[in-house]
Amino acid sequence: MFIFRRLFKKPDTECPRCLGKGTVDADDIKRLGKELGWLPGQCAFCNGSGKVFQDTVAAVPADLAYLTTSLSKIERSRILNGDKKALERARIYAENLAEITNRVAKQYYVGGLDLETISDLHFARFYPNEPSQQEKEEFLEFAAKIIAFYKDQYE
Ligand SMILES: [Zn+2]
Repeated sequence: MFIFRRLFKKPDTECPRCLGKGTVDADDIKRLGKELGWLPGQCAFCNGSGKVFQDTVAAVPADLAYLTTSLSKIERSRILNGDKKALERARIYAENLAEITNRVAKQYYVGGLDLETISDLHFARFYPNEPSQQEKEEFLEFAAKIIAFYKDQYE
């Protein structure tokens, strides 16, 4: 039970995600291949401290897509403690993200669809209700990022 050890010890290992800075920048995002999943900002792996426990580094991959600052405190701690159900949610999250990015890139580069059409198809398939203007804009922004990211692969 390393929980007890944590009561008496401070984290003393450099965070493998932000390399000890406490924030994740564009270089870190590129190094970890998370261009389509993360934005620069506070590091969710070390919570901005730059230091983590050695056993956390051993148990949780630095590039775990699901571990972002959007997670609740309790979910973050489940992930860092290796909770099986939380890790399963992390796996499904990464799978869904890969599914969306691959689908959008194919629709654009192979299917020849424009962004508006790709967006309409996305919402028709996954949203039971009409999406808000903000949801549409966010999706279009994300789709544009995906297309730029996959450009070399398809052209
Ligand atoms: Zn960090």
